[in-house]
Amino acid sequence: MLACSLIALGFCGAATAQPSQSEIDAHVATAKAAAGLDYRGTFMNLCLPGGGFPGGGRAGAPVGRGAAPGGRAAAPAPRPAPDRATWYASPYKVFDNLYWLGTRAHSSWALQTSAGIIIIDTNFDYAIEPEIVEGLTKLGLNPRDVKYVILSHAHGDHDEGVALLQSRYGAHVIMGGPDWDATLKRDASYAGGVPKRGPGDVSVGPEGYKLTLGDTSVNIIFTPGHTVGTISDVFPVKDGGKTVMVAYSGGTLTGAFDSDAKRWDEYIDSQKRIADAAKAAGASVIISNHSEYDDAYTKSRLVALKREAGEENPFIVGAAGVQKYFTVMEECATASKLRNNAK
Ligand SMILES: [Zn+2]
Repeated sequence: MLACSLIALGFCGAATAQPSQSEIDAHVATAKAAAGLDYRGTFMNLCLPGGGFPGGGRAGAPVGRGAAPGGRAAAPAPRPAPDRATWYASPYKVFDNLYWLGTRAHSSWALQTSAGIIIIDTNFDYAIEPEIVEGLTKLGLNPRDVKYVILSHAHGDHDEGVALLQSRYGAHVIMGGPDWDATLKRDASYAGGVPKRGPGDVSVGPEGYKLTLGDTSVNIIFTPGHTVGTISDVFPVKDGGKTVMVAYSGGTLTGAFDSDAKRWDEYIDSQKRIADAAKAAGASVIISNHSEYDDAYTKSRLVALKREAGEENPFIVGAAGVQKYFTVMEECATASKLRNNAK
């Protein structure tokens, strides 16, 4: 009776159609508990209203650089690279055959196999030479051995370097099909250039793709949401000779979905899919392409430090820790979907 006494104020009818605040709060609380201290950045950016989107920008598009996913992407306005002293980071070996080639905020990775190197994500155009080409060389690897580049999604902070790796070293490019299609519509003046799709390049569809290079297979999972063609990965690395499975989260932010329930549901389904694949593989490492989500820049530097008894490689968070990461993503997206009253 109390609730319907609010009819006159216009609340009662809306209350039956709108999700309750307590329902939203419950999802946020579940995400917060899963995040703990390990995934604070992911929780803050995904669960708080407007989190991670200064000015309400398009999901994941860095301010002033990159391009919107899908459709005909406008070429980003040319601008000088930021001062190197604000972003450059040395390259680090983080497992026997996995190397971090990131800037302080954005990560690229090199997975060494018995038949060459797989690069995952390629960062901004200004970072490709100092971080990836010179980074590989500093670590004793040869950039000419790069056989494949897996791009998690077509945003400038992860893909501007790919055209150089393709044209200079002949690397094949693997991307989610819809993001490949959007990439090919780019203006030729796109920062770093536009890769070409030819024989040996791969467009990943909903069925996913298994990339095998030498002794290593990467299970590529179609996880649309952050962009329409985002892909994520599960693959093995060696840690002191022991096999450890890694889950790679391809795209994180959800900001521009608004009331589009289909986009929210697609994103949520994708988190379940990558979480299930990670679980099936026994993944105990979770990494991504932004250090604010996985602490890659900090952990990369910690790897070389002395470990006390019982301490593992800092990237190993355990199978439960990996699942908690995807719980944060799924629960925050569910809360945000409700908050946006998406239908
Ligand atoms: Zn993005």
